[in-house]
Amino acid sequence: MKRATTLFAAAGTLGGALTLGTAPAHADPTTPDIAATGTIVTATTGLNARSGPSSASARIGTLTNGTPIAISCRTAGEFISGTVTNTGYWDRLTDNSFISDAFVQRDAIDIPKCTTTTVAIPEVSGTWMLPVKAGLVSGFRTVERPVHDGVDLGATRNTAIRAVSAGTVIRVVCNVSRGSCDVDGSRSLRGCGWYVEVQHADSIVTRYCHMIRRPSVTVGQVVRRGTILGHVGTSGASSGPHLHFEVHVGAPATRANAVSPIDFMAVLGLTFGSA
Ligand SMILES: [Zn+2]
Repeated sequence: MKRATTLFAAAGTLGGALTLGTAPAHADPTTPDIAATGTIVTATTGLNARSGPSSASARIGTLTNGTPIAISCRTAGEFISGTVTNTGYWDRLTDNSFISDAFVQRDAIDIPKCTTTTVAIPEVSGTWMLPVKAGLVSGFRTVERPVHDGVDLGATRNTAIRAVSAGTVIRVVCNVSRGSCDVDGSRSLRGCGWYVEVQHADSIVTRYCHMIRRPSVTVGQVVRRGTILGHVGTSGASSGPHLHFEVHVGAPATRANAVSPIDFMAVLGLTFGSA
């Protein structure tokens, strides 16, 4: 099937109001500009909309054949052979979800490249809690710390750190640029110190950093919501005891799939305490 003739040809600047990782797919307060419109063409029951440009990214929703869509931008991703074309481009829709352009019948105009790396927050199942009861002392990708991919929670040394939901421990690591994770770290070091990652349902991975000693769980261990993973410390690149906590949409956890833990928990009705 070839691209349809022009359906819509509005131009415009792209999504200037979007911020990194702060817009849940189903509660996006902004309205990104529409670069193109199109229609889903799928021979199967539905095309999955994803949190990122790959079939391994978390599923956000499903679009049936004939669904009209509004595209805000495109990005390079997994190469897909589809019903309309074969391409490595994925379209980011105005709800921040991604679909392969291989299943989109649309006009042939150039769609602008995505200039922000928004990752949509999917609906998640199960019950959730906060990892520690403590004040929020540093936020996610703030103006002062644009590469801070998690939140810092000001818990005291030896506070128990709990799995925020059921899952499987996928990583237990000492990560420090020199020396040991069994001693207090410092700002002159790099690394997360002793840390744990837990994989949950719906491709969510949570990460817990700077533990005081080797975590109390092991890789492959199935944990419940509330299982103690380890204890608060200040190992690795850390200037004092706290929990650095990250949420990722997709495994493995990378910088590109980190989302705001504040926004993620807000969707679940949970709020980090004030410092
Ligand atoms: Zn941190």
